[in-house]
Amino acid sequence: MQRTIQIMNARNVVGLVSGSLEVVDRWREAGGSRILPSIAFDPKSGKPTVDELRRLVLEKRVAAFAEIVTQLDGVAANDPRMEPYYALAEELDVPVGIHMGPGPPGVSYFGAPDYRIRLSSLLLLEDVLTRHPKLRIWAMHAGWPLADEAVAALYAHPQLYVDIGTISYAFPRKEFYGYLQRLIDAGFESRIMFGSDEMVWPDALSAAIDSVLNAPSLTRQQKRAILYDNAARFLRLKPFAPR
Ligand SMILES: [Zn+2]
Repeated sequence: MQRTIQIMNARNVVGLVSGSLEVVDRWREAGGSRILPSIAFDPKSGKPTVDELRRLVLEKRVAAFAEIVTQLDGVAANDPRMEPYYALAEELDVPVGIHMGPGPPGVSYFGAPDYRIRLSSLLLLEDVLTRHPKLRIWAMHAGWPLADEAVAALYAHPQLYVDIGTISYAFPRKEFYGYLQRLIDAGFESRIMFGSDEMVWPDALSAAIDSVLNAPSLTRQQKRAILYDNAARFLRLKPFAPR
């Protein structure tokens, strides 16, 4: 945590931090206004309950519901069990960040037997977005590697955003730049947000920032959009006042 916060200070990062409420509170204590607290919902465990989530939002202890990792449990983004949470997020206008994309390679055989990469398709969000048109949802890891589906969903649903999570540093750089360029060439540079998906490696945050800054084909303005403008707009950073 200390190393991460050092990097956040050095590189001027404001970030969503996701974990249990206890962990997120501890980070907020240590990182102050750089930390935007978020916790996930999980229809399988039912914890936290919808009522608890509502209270946490109203008490301003939580700024987003993320990272929703139901894909790792084989639960699709459009699974009916997700409904009460989407309805709550839409009602309270709370952003939802959902993992849609890669797990560790082969994770279905060691860590998450129900993980299915086909659930990375952003087309699964169609049902969700048409039922909850005001829902502010973004797809973490941008639905990699299903670029056609990602482009289709971004085109058809102008409120949808993506982030570049782990794909910005964990893969061969050429693959990341190619995927990013596909989304940009299709016209969506204003809806791609930076994400580090820094799990237990503080320096992944720096690596992710550098991979955007060093992208050979991006303009300065595109880098700025990905690293700052798009997330500031999507998360409405100013109205949210961290303690
Ligand atoms: Zn993820």
